[in-house]
Amino acid sequence: MEINAIVAGAGIWGCTAARALAETGRKVLVLERRAAPGGNVRCETDPETGIEVHVYGSHIFHTHIDGAWNFIRRFAEFNGYQHKVLARHAGKTYFLPLGLTLVNQFYGLDLKPQELPAFIARESQQETLLRQSCETQSESQKPQNFEEQAIAFIGRPLYEAFIRGYTMKQWGTDPVNLPASIIKRLPVRASYDVNYYPDYRQGIPLAGYNSIFERMLDHPNIALECNVDWLEWRKAHPEAERDAVPTFYSGPIDELFSYKFGPLPWRSLSFELERLPIADFQGTSVVNYTDADVPFTRIHEFKHYHPEDAALMARPATTICREYPKTWTPGDEPYYPVDTPASRELLTLYQAEAEKTPHIIVGGRLGGYKYYDMDQAIANALETAAQFSLGS
Ligand code: UDP
Repeated sequence: MEINAIVAGAGIWGCTAARALAETGRKVLVLERRAAPGGNVRCETDPETGIEVHVYGSHIFHTHIDGAWNFIRRFAEFNGYQHKVLARHAGKTYFLPLGLTLVNQFYGLDLKPQELPAFIARESQQETLLRQSCETQSESQKPQNFEEQAIAFIGRPLYEAFIRGYTMKQWGTDPVNLPASIIKRLPVRASYDVNYYPDYRQGIPLAGYNSIFERMLDHPNIALECNVDWLEWRKAHPEAERDAVPTFYSGPIDELFSYKFGPLPWRSLSFELERLPIADFQGTSVVNYTDADVPFTRIHEFKHYHPEDAALMARPATTICREYPKTWTPGDEPYYPVDTPASRELLTLYQAEAEKTPHIIVGGRLGGYKYYDMDQAIANALETAAQFSLGS
């Protein structure tokens, strides 16, 4: 097949870009350095229990982006699973997110929805007043970091119980050193709605995540080669460079330039899988352990992602996974970009470098150094491919 576009990296961003390009008539070569496509969304079926294990951590598809939803539904039917997250703190289990259920449970109150904002405002006001007395008026208007934002959202007691310890474990630093944007991912609700995500369009693919990638890449204009690292491949194929074959690269942007300005910082994770001879370990898919003295952040129990499968649910076997955050070092999987002024500056240097080779279009979570959800990765890939097609 004559190739007129290359996709380097077959994660959700790369597969979406490949499909979009193929549908505009381009012949696309997809190169993936792992043994199979799917990136960190890839799952494995536990041969003993038949449970779909999210080997890179839980993935729940949820979106309010029409384009992403319409696109993915061409390749998957969803089971209607609605994600709920529980939190263990000081030996008790609570419902997240930060809302009426948690507040009433934690304080032993019976607040009504219209009473919650005033209650939270009172809880967080003391902190704000204290801060305002130490800072100039204009500086103190907006929370300046993760901790201030979290306290403004929910007050100090809830922050100490559910956020501080978890966040220190997750990010390996005191929350005062983190940007407010991270906590804005968590919804705060004045209702008993315990859906973790505010998106009514969510679920788990009935046929499993891997089938999505197989279907996306199943197109006459797409050729997939696995176990091929494009960074190596390009050395053996100088003609691709010479002909400036458009290349959609979704590997780490710093690796693309041999880390010449130094590595971008990431948080990594390690997972400890355990198979248990019981039908149900924790009664739900994810329980967060928010206290600092518990070394892991959460336990995933994957069978709960498929409540439609009654036989699977009843079987006296379950696979659980403890998740341990850690600092990324070369060789580890990069999971979360660490957003600091220094990392932003480093990213700008690499992005400026990437602009010098406009036929290499860098994107995705690793290429863009962005904390993408799956739907955002799809939306961005569709947009990137559309812009490219318009310009070519
Ligand atoms: N977070 C927390 N306690 C929790 C859950 C989340 O403090 O029980 C904080 C933590 O800093 C985390 C951020 O909120 O990084 C965003 O949470 P989210 O559930 O979106 O993280 P993800 O599932 O993407 O790891």
